[in-house]
Amino acid sequence: MPSNIYDIAIVGLGPAGSSLARLLDSSLKVAAIDRKRLDGSEGGFQKPCGGLLAPGAQKALVEDGLNLPSSLLVDPQIFAVKTMDLVSGLLRHYQRYFLNINRHDFDLWLASLIPPSVRIFDRAVCRSIVRKGSHFELTFSRGGRLATVSARRLVGADGSASLVRRTFIPTEIRRYICIQEFFPGRPREPYGCFFDERITNCYGWINNKNGCLVLGAALPLAGNQSAESTRARFEAAKEALRPFGYRFYGVPLFAEAALVSRPASLGQISLGQGEVFLVGEAAGLVSPSSLEGISYALESARHLARVLNRDPARAQRQYSRSVAPLRRKIFLRLLKAPFLYRPLLRRLVMRSGLTSLGGSSRTGPF
Ligand SMILES: Cc1cc2nc3c(=O)[nH]c(=O)nc-3n(C[C@H](O)[C@H](O)[C@H](O)COP(=O)(O)OP(=O)(O)OC[C@H]3O[C@@H](n4cnc5c(N)ncnc54)[C@H](O)[C@@H]3O)c2cc1C
Repeated sequence: MPSNIYDIAIVGLGPAGSSLARLLDSSLKVAAIDRKRLDGSEGGFQKPCGGLLAPGAQKALVEDGLNLPSSLLVDPQIFAVKTMDLVSGLLRHYQRYFLNINRHDFDLWLASLIPPSVRIFDRAVCRSIVRKGSHFELTFSRGGRLATVSARRLVGADGSASLVRRTFIPTEIRRYICIQEFFPGRPREPYGCFFDERITNCYGWINNKNGCLVLGAALPLAGNQSAESTRARFEAAKEALRPFGYRFYGVPLFAEAALVSRPASLGQISLGQGEVFLVGEAAGLVSPSSLEGISYALESARHLARVLNRDPARAQRQYSRSVAPLRRKIFLRLLKAPFLYRPLLRRLVMRSGLTSLGGSSRTGPF
């Protein structure tokens, strides 16, 4: 057995991993690995994200005793969502309160709150993890070299493409590929989301970020779909948005893509097994109706920290019990999903005007 063995190794320092690392007891010997540059220097990996903090995430921050620095906010803030059904031309505004943030700065801020007792390996990509008797050996590349750390317990906080989940947990989860393109913007546009079953059985969005107009969409990741057909669907969205007054011409300022998990059933959520734990999106804790995942990442990390601090030997069972409210929340979102994603039901809801704000209900000039 290696002499320098950690109690816990965390793979991934997004909202879930950073919150967990912050909340674990300082008596535990903890190592954390993340591919980002956490010193804020230029370059390196940045998580593609819409960067909207939903009320659930705002509440989770309050419950963690955190105030959001205003430097993380970007222009404009969001009070309503313009909802568009591109096939029928229906248009509605719904009042919603999201904080529009710079997601990368948010990640760096959460990581900056991790106490010095945690050994952080940033700019490090975890390549493989093997079980060796009573501990795990993690191999990662950093600065062109391979290194290893060993730990008795392993936490996968490594998001939708989780290596930890792929290595140790057989449960599959439905995933989508998200594409975002950034164009020179029109800052007066409200946040928009669009539905079009010809393009995706999920949804797309239009956001403003500090003078950029961002077009994004979550597209199905069916095994038989080529990269070209995914790209073609994204381009088709630009065309379908034209009657709503949007013009996405030319080469974007930049573009990015990432996977997002969207559980199709509660059975696709896995919190881990034995000494392997999953938090946040690695566990599949994402709203299947909105793809909102930051609140689940923060909350699941808090639950896991509490049980690992209290009784590591029985943590798996207690973690599963304490996450039950999050599973219930996802169950309710699964029930809500057909009203958003079944075209006939969605159109019925939009036509009814239920809970919508006044104003236009059909395509027209802004
Ligand atoms: C395009 C897009 C838009 C989204 N918009 C929103 C939104 O507006 N609001 C919202 O609430 N949610 C949104 N989500 C979902 C949200 O981003 C995630 O659910 C949330 O980030 C999950 O947090 P996490 O900490 O579990 O995982 P992540 O944020 O994905 O963090 C995982 C971390 O693990 C690291 N990592 C992964 N693999 C390795 C490895 N092998 N070695 C080292 N490091 C590794 C990565 O660097 C990353 O920092 C969006 C997702 C996508 C893809």
